Amino acid sequence: MIQVTKTYLPNKDKYKAYVDRIFESGQLTNAGSLVQELELRLAEHLGVKHLICVASGSLALQVAYKALGLEGEVITSPFSFAATTSTLLWEGLTPKFCDINPQTFNLAPELIESHITDKTSAIVPVHVFGNPCDVEQIQAIADKHKLKVIYDAAHAFGVTYKDRSVLQHGDISTLSFHSTKIFHTIEGGAIITSSNEVAAKVRLMINFGISGPNKTEGLGINAKMNEFEAAMGLCVLDDIAKISQNRSNHVAEYTEVIGDKLTFQKTNAFSSKLFSYMPVLFDTEAELLQVKEALEVEGIFARRYFYPSLDVVYSKGVLCPVSNAISQRVLCFPLMADLPKIVLEILGKLLQKV
Ligand SMILES: *Cc1c(COP(=O)(O)O)cnc(C)c1O
Repeated sequence: MIQVTKTYLPNKDKYKAYVDRIFESGQLTNAGSLVQELELRLAEHLGVKHLICVASGSLALQVAYKALGLEGEVITSPFSFAATTSTLLWEGLTPKFCDINPQTFNLAPELIESHITDKTSAIVPVHVFGNPCDVEQIQAIADKHKLKVIYDAAHAFGVTYKDRSVLQHGDISTLSFHSTKIFHTIEGGAIITSSNEVAAKVRLMINFGISGPNKTEGLGINAKMNEFEAAMGLCVLDDIAKISQNRSNHVAEYTEVIGDKLTFQKTNAFSSKLFSYMPVLFDTEAELLQVKEALEVEGIFARRYFYPSLDVVYSKGVLCPVSNAISQRVLCFPLMADLPKIVLEILGKLLQKV
């Protein structure tokens, strides 16, 4: 059976050596030395100023909303994983769904302003499948209306825009380090910001607001990453160049096999190559289902990211027709560092019949 993603497992002895270090130190969590090491290495690898590791990508979003003091309405994309919207609702915020561009699959910047009211406090766009949003246009709208911008950048690990990390954009960008993601720490995530003030606030918030013995500054939560997770991250990070190269090669192989039989996501002209997911757009949902089911017969499980559109999930109605139409026709093929050749062979044969 070949699933749509496969967790990358690093060298077991290397991981065990880190576990030995954890046992020797006796410190399992609370900003231990491995979390600190991982934060420094990740900030350098990605080219960002502050990177704070947390327990999950969802908590990264929730803490980001709190740290920036969001309230009322937040404009967001309905074409994403559930967490982009569920975290807003969980924090008592009202998501306002703005439709997407049918080619890039990202929030359509020209539609954002029509959703702004006097209750709007922020925009939460998603770099869908790692594809950088129109970051300049979004920032201009945010500046004009004094809104915060938080990018759900869960898919954009290692992506650059105009040769700089795309994570440098917005007041905060968040990452997910869940096992299914390109870089992982078993469970985990990160908050990225260039503001010293926001970074300091986030550090307090992820540990109950505790600033020292007998001292608590404001409300916080427990969103800390532990040492075992950081150890996994350090091992995976050692291999990230190889992982990225292999995935990139597989994307090139898919691109050749698929040719002009299906439509690809239109990627930002200023973006580095994407290899987080292998999304394709079918002409009709019926064709999508036909290919998906034919692959399943062969033990290959492609997945519909993101279906149904989140406006339907969380508002019980179609608010964004483009997102709904796209979500019915997008399928992600399996992508992993060691994709078995058989997947491309079977897909090639199937597509000849479509
Ligand atoms: C994976 C993902 C998340 C959630 O991350 P977790 O680490 O699973 O909490 C949020 N947004 C997007 C777009 C994701 O793909």
